[in-house]
Amino acid sequence: MASAKKKSQSPHTPPQNNHVPAPLELVLQLMAIPGASGDEQQIANFVRQTLVDAGADPKQIRYDQAHLHTPIDGNTGNLIFKLPGTVRAPRRLLMSHLDTVPICVGSLPVRRGNRLLSGNPGHGIGADNRAGVAVILHTATQLLQSNLPHPPLTFLWTVQEEIGLHGARNANLSMLGNPKLAFNWDGGAADKVTVGATGGYRMQIEIQGLASHAGNAPEQGVSAIAIAAIAIADLQQTGWHGDIRKNGRRGTSNIGVIQGGNATNVVADHVFLRAEARSHDASFRKQIVKQIEAAFKRAAKKVTSSKGKQGKVKFRGQLDYEAFRLAPDEPAVVAASNVIRQLGHEPVLSVTNGGLDANWMSSRGIPTVTLGCGQLHQHMAQEELHIPTFLLACDIALQLARAN
Ligand SMILES: [Zn+2]
Repeated sequence: MASAKKKSQSPHTPPQNNHVPAPLELVLQLMAIPGASGDEQQIANFVRQTLVDAGADPKQIRYDQAHLHTPIDGNTGNLIFKLPGTVRAPRRLLMSHLDTVPICVGSLPVRRGNRLLSGNPGHGIGADNRAGVAVILHTATQLLQSNLPHPPLTFLWTVQEEIGLHGARNANLSMLGNPKLAFNWDGGAADKVTVGATGGYRMQIEIQGLASHAGNAPEQGVSAIAIAAIAIADLQQTGWHGDIRKNGRRGTSNIGVIQGGNATNVVADHVFLRAEARSHDASFRKQIVKQIEAAFKRAAKKVTSSKGKQGKVKFRGQLDYEAFRLAPDEPAVVAASNVIRQLGHEPVLSVTNGGLDANWMSSRGIPTVTLGCGQLHQHMAQEELHIPTFLLACDIALQLARAN
């Protein structure tokens, strides 16, 4: 790597006297602020104010308009803070999502030994992802309050991750300053470097049958429930439902929702289903979707009324996120692994079957690794934050931001 050359001082003088919260204090403050998906304005304001209090130039803190392109009406876009570098090196991006799942609204964390647990029964603490928010916010405040050298940095707090990665998907990339390495905090173990994730496709299936009196003239009806049953049994028997393995290719599918019918004495004329297909292999995922559609079409042909009428099946679907896999020599992977080793841990490269903001960042041209920050039992009332892991994540983030 070229030797880092010190440039002139950053355009503002770091204030030395402001109180900058320690990581644990910061995460507790963040957890207390409600902010489910689409309702991130209050938490974004807190992040912004903390940056300003630490000496950030307010002109370098901006919001994009991602929330205007998402399926729900959000009250803020993604929050972006650009910090000019003090050394010449490729720009680095540090990111985390701002929103929590609804069960974490009402978070009341209490400390038990080296863990934060919920003190409000039935509610999670929102470690997912206030821990990630705190990790990169702490890094930003540390750099603002010190003269530690660092490359140009972009901090990105995304909205609406939990409901389909919409903040990252719609982030205004032109506002990010062209980062070459990107790091995302969300998850458990701090030494786990997630370098790939599956791609997910979500579908809605509507079966239109024909209603008829179930006692007087069932033969004149077309049961949408019978069509659904035949289709699902077909997928299950042919190995296209659940864990799918075909000729060395792997994926998953799930019929997750089925709704239909009104009364036992009516042939059900309408069934609505929701299903998903996932695979790291995009072409195999498309094949799974095709098999699901074909099974429903075949099933529709097998259920006929006495007058030869058949039901109809309609499909709608959308790609939730594309799969990605970073190469082992990708600079972000190398940098994350090196920093984890420097701090005395062995990096564990992993690939996940869930979707991450990193899916959209990577498929949109910004290779992004994801690191953990001490979350446990996410999306549940039993959620915890493992404090030593969270503090290690803070150390890792600061070293990555300094390009050490
Ligand atoms: Zn998360």
